Amino acid sequence: MNFSRKMIVAFVIMTSLTAGCAKPAKKHEYGEFAAYVDQFKNEAKTQGLSIEDQDLVIRYGNEEEVKTKSKVNRALAICTQEQGVPTVVVDEKWWKDKLPTLDHHEDLAELVLFHELGHCILGRHHKDDIDAQNRIPASIMNSKAIPGAVYLEHRPYYTSELFGKTG
Ligand SMILES: [Zn+2]
Repeated sequence: MNFSRKMIVAFVIMTSLTAGCAKPAKKHEYGEFAAYVDQFKNEAKTQGLSIEDQDLVIRYGNEEEVKTKSKVNRALAICTQEQGVPTVVVDEKWWKDKLPTLDHHEDLAELVLFHELGHCILGRHHKDDIDAQNRIPASIMNSKAIPGAVYLEHRPYYTSELFGKTG
């Protein structure tokens, strides 16, 4: 390899490094909640919605932090912004101690995560309407958590509602 060719190679390498630095890597920190993020994206795809790759952190917090940052009492998890990164904070004590004792806790776990990802990824707000036909909360974006059994029974409705509408 002659000198000028070496220069070209060096230039190409430097350029690609610079290009790599210009756009910081997305922040994806899901801890043990990664499966829920996958499930959320799969459901979105099923509903014909493609979710863009975006920053997202999901982490545990203590009860006090979750309560302080949420506007409502007894929040189980919240979506907040930390240094511009959408961040879901889950009440660790509730998740580890209380949740497993509840009926249909696996469904409830998904419901809670989907609700928060509804805020953090879809930008949805709370919706406290009642579905007149089924007499159930119209959305998992309800400000109070829906019982796991109700979610389980109406899951197709709730997932299509979640991804079918924004705002
Ligand atoms: Zn909420």
